[in-house]
Amino acid sequence: MSAIIVKGSVISEEILEEICEEVVTIQKRHKIVPGLVTILVGSNPASVSYVTLKVKTALRLGFKEVQIDRPSDISEKALLSLIDGYNQDDSIHGILVQLPLPTHIDEKKIINAIDHDKDVDGFHPVNVGRLMIGGSVVKFPPCTPAGIQELIVRSGIETVGAEVVVVGRSNIVGKPIANMMFQKGVNANSTVTVVHTATKDLEGHCKRADILIVAAGVPELVKPEWIKPGACVIDVGVNRVGTKISKTTGKEVAILRGDVDFEAAREIAGWITPVPGGVGPMTIAMLMRNTLNSLKFKLDIA
Ligand code: NAP
Repeated sequence: MSAIIVKGSVISEEILEEICEEVVTIQKRHKIVPGLVTILVGSNPASVSYVTLKVKTALRLGFKEVQIDRPSDISEKALLSLIDGYNQDDSIHGILVQLPLPTHIDEKKIINAIDHDKDVDGFHPVNVGRLMIGGSVVKFPPCTPAGIQELIVRSGIETVGAEVVVVGRSNIVGKPIANMMFQKGVNANSTVTVVHTATKDLEGHCKRADILIVAAGVPELVKPEWIKPGACVIDVGVNRVGTKISKTTGKEVAILRGDVDFEAAREIAGWITPVPGGVGPMTIAMLMRNTLNSLKFKLDIA
């Protein structure tokens, strides 16, 4: 059996098209577009490339996009005051501070300073709480987990009663996706197990999964024999394992690997996401959707 390749790059384009249409309609009716500010501190190459892509996508969708670059020695106080300005700005509906931040800045303090009704990353404790409660109180599901759930649903995979195993328990991926999948409601209602470095029988748990979500950050951690035949495998991992020269640009680019041995796993799984081109593009699409929804909440049309 050869798995269906779940292409986030294609599914995210469908979602961006849907967002684009909604932006046009809202602009006509309400004379306003979603506003997103992206704040980049320093020049970490991965952060620069993520922010560049987010800015490009927001502009493509017709959003108001404000890109703020600040040097890595910006003080915590100055960053807090910048955020406060955008909290007060009615034309801005989403505030994104690209993480990680330099070590002299307290990330928690920065996240907590963002107005939780503009927290389109979904990292503010209020939004984490809303996610835990579930249902209609959820405003901004964090972007990567939201993208994972969307990939599963749009691929037509049954979640109700499914055994979901999540490898990893980070605040940005493992914990929220586990929480989202066990909620009583549509597109969820699964039985969820979360495994981590202290788990005794990682392989045994993974083998039980109808839906296996892997977010460990360990290249090719999951072996093909850990996968239940026909399972859906969502590989969140993005691991830079070397560099190569791009055939299109001639520039040196990173060689990326997921947390799953893709070539072998695709022969066993029913569905599998590639790396790159799987979960990554969905994360950006969900950020755009959260920003659009923030405006819709404000206009009371959500
Ligand atoms: P993280 O904060 O480093 O957390 C990794 C988790 O995996 C931890 O809970 C850790 O367990 C667990 N883990 C690590 N090695 C393990 C092992 N050998 N066996 C079992 N569990 C293990 O990572 P993250 O931020 O969640 O990111 C995970 C991966 O996803 C990374 O490759 C990251 O680049 C990628 N990512 C991709 C996107 C995207 O948009 N595509 C977004 C976010 C993250 P302990 O808790 O016990 O330490």
